[in-house]
Amino acid sequence: MSVNSSLLRKIPKIDDLLKEPALEGACAQCSHSVLLEAIRETIDGLRQSILSGAEDVSLDTDSICEAVLHCLKEKTTMSLRPVINATGIILHTNLGRARLSDNAVKAITSVAQDYNTLEYNLKKGARGSRYDHVEKLVTKITGAEDCLVVNNNAAAVMLILSTMAKGKEVIVSRGELVEIGGAFRIPDIMSQSGGILTEVGTTNKTHYADYKNAITPETGALLKVHTSNFKIYGFFEEVSLDDMVQLGHEHHLPVIYDLGGGALVRLEDYGISDEPNVIDCMKSGVDILSFSGDKLLGGPQAGIIIGKHEYIEAMKKNPLTRAFRIDKLTLAALEATLRDYLDPETAVQSIPTLQMMAATVETLTPKGEKLFALLNDDPQGYTVELTQDVGQIGGGSVPTQMIPSVVVALKPEHTSLDTLERELREASLPIIARISKERMLFDVRTIDERHFSYINETLRKLCMK
Ligand SMILES: *Cc1c(COP(=O)(O)O)cnc(C)c1O
Repeated sequence: MSVNSSLLRKIPKIDDLLKEPALEGACAQCSHSVLLEAIRETIDGLRQSILSGAEDVSLDTDSICEAVLHCLKEKTTMSLRPVINATGIILHTNLGRARLSDNAVKAITSVAQDYNTLEYNLKKGARGSRYDHVEKLVTKITGAEDCLVVNNNAAAVMLILSTMAKGKEVIVSRGELVEIGGAFRIPDIMSQSGGILTEVGTTNKTHYADYKNAITPETGALLKVHTSNFKIYGFFEEVSLDDMVQLGHEHHLPVIYDLGGGALVRLEDYGISDEPNVIDCMKSGVDILSFSGDKLLGGPQAGIIIGKHEYIEAMKKNPLTRAFRIDKLTLAALEATLRDYLDPETAVQSIPTLQMMAATVETLTPKGEKLFALLNDDPQGYTVELTQDVGQIGGGSVPTQMIPSVVVALKPEHTSLDTLERELREASLPIIARISKERMLFDVRTIDERHFSYINETLRKLCMK
């Protein structure tokens, strides 16, 4: 008899495994069929290992039960779930961009649990519009005439061009033909929308006369795109929004601005320069402007289009609006977030993105000291220190601004940094941290204090061995 078949016979039977106390207990938390599936998959895995000649297959009941429980855990854990962001990047696109405020979360829960007024007008007892819920708030905060919200800003730009520029020439500076990430590239969006791209200027310099000379009877609009995720230094010139608006209006052409970031507060107040805000841009008289809900605004994923009523009305009639429609949970979160902006001081206190942007080394130091004190109380298997590093806003926003931050830097003694980084990612509540200069960094700017004790316990467990 071959070694293989004698090993194969040692694999316990499913029915016997089902009677194991370790697995019987697990069954209380999941359905029998899921447990059965986990046992089958584990046993199949063992069989494959044996057949492929692996010599280190452990067939004792305890380790098989442990493998089944591991498999069961993977099956029953949500794929989309919370993580701790210790990177210091406030708008981390991979980690869900803006963290929502408590008010926004409450609004989502209450609208999700019950029937609601999504498209119902309570005063009239008749059909209402989903766009009404945020329209007055947005126009009040931004000073715009009208507004329309869609799924995200990429959809907003598509809808704007499709409505205002289909079959017409749209003049764009070569310095602003940007790629935002994924498949969002201005030239591609333009062709998808049916607009005809007219490039003017060069990569580094575009002049007023370039736009002016490109205007023909076929021109439908002038488009400005905020180069939100990169910066050109040196021999550089662009035409200001004010000048573009003046030129456009002299020729009875609408001016469109894809602003991207969409700050509703003065970022200068937070030490962040070079990032235009929505309110100042509206003052230029720009006809249509769009921005994201989950970047600098700190709300849910959304595309917010503001500007002249006649264009917004035309967009509402475009069939794409139905395809790009915003859902009720997003609207609830957006309305709650915007309500906080009615009083800018409330906004800074209650919207996590603004709170984190406003934090300075001075205000973060006591927070850093708390995490440091927890970890530095009888450290076993690691050394730790409190220091400073630079973080970023992220989300393709304000790329050149490195914001100084407070970090706890940890050096494990018995395990490698790469292993620790992986184990932190695989923890029950994953911790996403960064390795720099042979240490694991935990930037307290983006960590919520309620997670400090969990981070402390997890690190102690992982560094002990
Ligand atoms: C981020 C960005 C977009 C895309 O916005 P989403 O909300 O991510 O779809 C479009 N244009 C600019 C300039 C941006 O910065």
